[in-house]
Amino acid sequence: MNSLIEKAFSSNILEKDEIVFLLQNDFLNAELFDAADKTRKKNIGNKVHLRGLIEFSNICAKNCRYCGLRCSNKKLERYRLNTKNIIECAQKAKNHGIKTVVLQSGEDSFYSIETMQEIIHNLKKLNLAITLSLGEKTYEEYKAYKEAGANRYLLRIETTDPILYKKMHPKMNLNNRITCLKNLKELNYEVGSGCLVGLPNQSLNSLANDLLFLQNLQVDMAGIGPFIANPDTPLAKEPNGSFILALKIMAIMRLLLPKINIPATTSMETLNKNGQIIALQSGANVIMPNVTKINYRKKYIIYPGKTGIEQNEEETILSVKSKIKNIGREISTNFGTSKTWKAK
Ligand code: SAH
Ligand code: SF4
Repeated sequence: MNSLIEKAFSSNILEKDEIVFLLQNDFLNAELFDAADKTRKKNIGNKVHLRGLIEFSNICAKNCRYCGLRCSNKKLERYRLNTKNIIECAQKAKNHGIKTVVLQSGEDSFYSIETMQEIIHNLKKLNLAITLSLGEKTYEEYKAYKEAGANRYLLRIETTDPILYKKMHPKMNLNNRITCLKNLKELNYEVGSGCLVGLPNQSLNSLANDLLFLQNLQVDMAGIGPFIANPDTPLAKEPNGSFILALKIMAIMRLLLPKINIPATTSMETLNKNGQIIALQSGANVIMPNVTKINYRKKYIIYPGKTGIEQNEEETILSVKSKIKNIGREISTNFGTSKTWKAK
């Protein structure tokens, strides 16, 4: 094994310049992916956890320049699911043995604390673990969701580069995003974060900073996704991020945080038709099949070409399961709580 990869494998420590070196050069890629795969196997085993993704509203008050749900995108037909619709999606996931649902939306203030509590209470009756991904909320809101029974929260930092953050997120504030993540940690959520790879003018140095930020915060889950240009956003003409670069960031994340959950992201699959399988063999241990009804998932256009958009919930789940089995991995039957998280 190359000495740098060996160091990362045995100590789970990399300096910033070492990360940048790995990102700049491709001759160690095969060894990097292999070391990440071994690290995953040694620390968390062969099981793959499935999370049923419910995209319950595409209405968003924010205006992130890369995202199709941004409020300035007038071309998108908007929708909201009610509690009953959400429960139906969750029931479908449960019928297929899925033990976690991820409720994701734009930042949609229609869903008050009371409404979210009602949704969470109903999902809890199905004995599901609940991940929320609703964007930036106040400490009190996060606390109320947690008390209602939410287990996990997913909020990507997107980028830790203050200048790039400002350019990509009009009227948003990097410090507030960091505060949200710290609040979620303090409330003892299992915290998922992550970054976008390949934003315009994003440097390898800043991506290395993103990795060290996530390591330092000790996230329980990290989702790494390539940027995909959406024609209905101001970044329409920008090149897509690189699949390989995103895969390398994901593999380094596994080496830096050996026990966390790492999803093989849909955006990876969108850029490479074997993307999720390759990711599962390079450090990932989670897949989030979409269980949103087809008529709605078609309208949740964060970026174009999202895989599985023409499939129904059944087809999506079955195809994900068969992919996992085909590479000799097992489908987990438990909640798949991160090994890094402890109840308080
Ligand atoms: N509104 C919530 C959750 C929905 S967006 C939030 O922002 O946290 C979910 C994720 O989609 C974002 O975190 C972002 O990383 C990703 N995303 C948005 N636009 C994208 C694009 N054009 N390409 C790839 N990923 C994108
Ligand atoms: Fe809204 Fe999230 Fe898209 Fe930003 S990334 S525009 S907050 S849905």
